[in-house]
Amino acid sequence: MKNKALKRLIFGLLALPVCFSLFSFTLVPTVTDTVLNSGFKLKTVIVDAGHGDKTTGPGHFSRGADGTFSTERQVTLSVALKLQKAIEKNVVGVNAVLTRKTPEDVSFERRAEIANENKGNLFISIHCNSLPERTIRERVGTKRGKAIYKTARVADRSGKGVLMLIYALKRTREQQNEIKSNTLEEDIDNGGVDPNDPLTIILSNEYNRKFRMRSISMANILATEFVDNDSRRLEGIREQSLYVLCHAAMPSVLVEIGYINNPEEEEYLNSEEGQEAIVNTIVHSIQVYKDKVEQVIR
Ligand SMILES: [Zn+2]
Repeated sequence: MKNKALKRLIFGLLALPVCFSLFSFTLVPTVTDTVLNSGFKLKTVIVDAGHGDKTTGPGHFSRGADGTFSTERQVTLSVALKLQKAIEKNVVGVNAVLTRKTPEDVSFERRAEIANENKGNLFISIHCNSLPERTIRERVGTKRGKAIYKTARVADRSGKGVLMLIYALKRTREQQNEIKSNTLEEDIDNGGVDPNDPLTIILSNEYNRKFRMRSISMANILATEFVDNDSRRLEGIREQSLYVLCHAAMPSVLVEIGYINNPEEEEYLNSEEGQEAIVNTIVHSIQVYKDKVEQVIR
């Protein structure tokens, strides 16, 4: 062992298989019923309001989907501002950091930077879903006894429910680089870890595995809570390559809180009652996740 920092890392990793068993819900042989603290504390949740108004700054931006009377970027900001306050008020010992506080968009790169600079332990990105237009063939008349058809594009307003997205496997290398430069940074600074050392690569792989398992765990909790608390339709949990999720060196979930181009859901997403229900469900999910990751059952 080169120094204490490296020993700490390896010791932490040895404890991981115990943590994983918690998330996969497999039964751990119970020697005693004592609940021991794993040592990990969930301290900072990053709350990310998807999209924003056009900006002239550098980076990648996205305006998001439009509803009939509102936009995704307005709804996500409103929900994120309420969520940040609710987390700090209701989840003891946890602070919440926003990646966007105003209508103006923040680049994907900057969002990931804010998350990493604030040493977030969990990244929650808020988005609204929307279905693309459908193509239909319409009969518009007849000519010499033959029907004439025209192709038209119509809005598809049938989307309904919540969807959880986690990062796709093919993008994990990018996240791994972020992990190497953030999570292991202090140890590298102390002179204990060489970033090109095979051991460092193994360590960052293990961190990556842990973040992925925890992202899946949080997505599962959110899915259950949205169905149980709010009777929302569940579209499921999916993997997707998303810049902001891949670059945050922490467990990350993107929550599609409903379809903004479905009139019924747009009303719900804009209502005080709807936003309060969404915020309460996410806050409750964070509490459940926190209890889970902070404890090891032996
Ligand atoms: Zn979006």
